[in-house]
Amino acid sequence: MNFSKDACTKIIDNLYDGLYLLDKERTITYWNKSAEKISGFKADEVIGRSCSDNILTHVDADGNSLCQGMCPLAAVISDGIPREAEVYMHHKDGHRIPVLIRGTPLTDEKGTVIGGIELFTDISHQAGYELRIKELEKLAMLDSLTQLANRRYLEKEIRNRLEEKKRFQIPFGILLMDIDHFKHFNDTYGHDTGDEVLKYIAQTFIHNSRPFDMYGRWGGEEFLGIIRNIDTQALWDLGNRLRLLVQNSYLIRENKKLKITISMGATLVKVNDTIESVIKRADQLMYESKQKGRNSLTLG
Ligand code: GH3
Ligand code: MG
Ligand code: MG
Repeated sequence: MNFSKDACTKIIDNLYDGLYLLDKERTITYWNKSAEKISGFKADEVIGRSCSDNILTHVDADGNSLCQGMCPLAAVISDGIPREAEVYMHHKDGHRIPVLIRGTPLTDEKGTVIGGIELFTDISHQAGYELRIKELEKLAMLDSLTQLANRRYLEKEIRNRLEEKKRFQIPFGILLMDIDHFKHFNDTYGHDTGDEVLKYIAQTFIHNSRPFDMYGRWGGEEFLGIIRNIDTQALWDLGNRLRLLVQNSYLIRENKKLKITISMGATLVKVNDTIESVIKRADQLMYESKQKGRNSLTLG
C-alpha cells in the first residue's frame, strides 16, 4: 500500500509517541504533535534549530548532559546503529521529564544515512498523580500554586505513615528540600519568575515520583517528600537524582537560562520518632547541606 505524503504526516502526527527528525547537522526538521504535547515546545519553536541549542538538552540520571559527545541520536547518525536509552528531557516550563528514547537512522534510497529519527515516550507517573490531585482538590489539601499536597496534608500523611510503620514495620523516609539563595533569585528576576521556578520544581517531583510516594510544599520555597518502603541507599540515590534533575532544569527568559539548586536533608524514620522529631532531624540535615556550600544532600 502506498500512502500519500499527507496521509503519512497524519499518521506520524497522531502517534502516541513524540517523534522528531534530525538532519546530519543535527538540525531539527520535523516535530510531531505528541512531541509538542510531551515537551511543551511547538513545532515552529524547534524546527530549524539544533537539538542541542537550549531546547531538548537531554541529561542522564547522573545529571550529565548528553548534548556534547554523548547524544544517542548523534551516535545513531554517525554509525547507523539504532539505540534506546532512558533519559530526562527538558520541558518548556522548565522541569525534567523522564522519557524512553529510540533512535534510528534516516537513510536515502541508496541506504546512505542522511539523518536520524527519534521516537520518545513519556515514562513519568503523571497519570496516577493526576488522579490523586483530583482527590486532594476535593479535600482542600492542595497547594494552589504548585498543585502539590499542602503542609496540612503532608502532616496528616506523615502521621498515617508513622502509624503504619508502628503496626506493620513498613519503613519510610523524609526528604526536606529548600531552594538555595532564592531571595536573591526573586530580587534579580522578580517574584513571578520565582513562582515559575516553584512550579517547575513541583513538576519535577510529579513526573519523577513512584506512585506510592508523596511530595508537597512544606513552606514558601521548601518542599517535602514522603518516600515509602525505602532503605538508606535507595533514599540517598533518589534524593541525589532529584537534586540533579532540579540542578539541570531551567527557564528561558530573554535567551538566558535561569536555574536554581536545592539543598536537601534526608532521613529514614526511626522506631521512636514522632512527626516533630523526624522533621527536626530532616531540617538539621538540610541545614548541614546549606553549610556544606548548598546544592547538596545530607543523609542521617
Ligand atoms: P538559602 O540558600 O539560605 O535558603 O537562601 P534563601 O534566600 O533561599 O533563604 P530562605 O530559605 O530563607 O528563602 C526565603 C525566600 O524565599 C524569601 C522569598 O523571597 C522566597 N519565597 C518564599 N516563598 C515564595 C513564593 O511563594 N514565591 C516566590 N517567588 N518566592 C518565595
Ligand atoms: Mg527557606
Ligand atoms: Mg532557601
